[in-house]
Amino acid sequence: MFEYQPSQALLANKIILITGAGDGIGKQAALSYAAHGATVVLLGRTEQKLIQVYDEIVANGGATPAIITLDLQTATTAQYAELAQLVTHEFGRLDGLLHNASLLGSLGLIEQMDIDSLETVLKVNVTAQAALTQAVMPLLRAAPSASIIFTSSSVGRKGRAFWGAYAISKFATEGMMQTLADELEDSNIRTNSINPGGTRTSMRASAYPAEDPMTLKTPADIMPVYLYLMGDDSLNDNGKAFNAQ
Ligand code: NDP
Repeated sequence: MFEYQPSQALLANKIILITGAGDGIGKQAALSYAAHGATVVLLGRTEQKLIQVYDEIVANGGATPAIITLDLQTATTAQYAELAQLVTHEFGRLDGLLHNASLLGSLGLIEQMDIDSLETVLKVNVTAQAALTQAVMPLLRAAPSASIIFTSSSVGRKGRAFWGAYAISKFATEGMMQTLADELEDSNIRTNSINPGGTRTSMRASAYPAEDPMTLKTPADIMPVYLYLMGDDSLNDNGKAFNAQ
């Protein structure tokens, strides 16, 4: 496991946007960031789930979050611009961006892959991340220091049979992370990636239906690296691929 002891006020006064914040790892990241002082912007496609996370943060005494309901599969340039405008109006800057939402797609041989579903996975897992990053770049530049975290996978670092569109998308994610990190090397923005490792969520359960979920780490267990990379202890890290486990 990644070892790190965050201070309670690690993220005080930070504004952090999390995609896929309604479930799984993204939900836990939102709760953990809020518990360490951040004001979180919850982005996802299922409003009801975002409202539940919002309520939980408020009940725990966290700063009032913002909710942005957006389907990354169909999001338009105008919607990204509207999102950036909303965050500008509410907060004026972004100190952190966690690209967490993604689709698993179908597993199987590339030889037999359905190309339309490849396009859907790439749209959510890659294109949407580029579009969102672009839209909020002025907000990240407006922060004293800002952290972008991309979510990878072990199949984004070494290809594996049958992981098809998902593996292709996660390699692209690592490529985007490295390219952006190099472009922003002398800026206030650092960019890194995390491979969560097998974690007890619904995505994992659909990839490994026969597995006993109780053998897996929970989203809460893997939070140390998510906190480390969002807080100022990681100011000198850029362009690196981290493992949560
Ligand atoms: P979940 O499927 O549990 O959660 C994914 C979240 O992303 C959900 O909240 C989902 O929304 C949201 N999302 C999916 N598609 C869209 C979309 N089109 N627009 C907006 N939001 C969307 O996955 P995990 O928590 O397991 O995964 C989180 C990240 O970690 C992913 O990037 C995944 O690839 C990565 N990962 C996970 C591993 C694991 O073992 N769990 C291992 C390696 C990597 P909704 O709730 O509405 O469906």
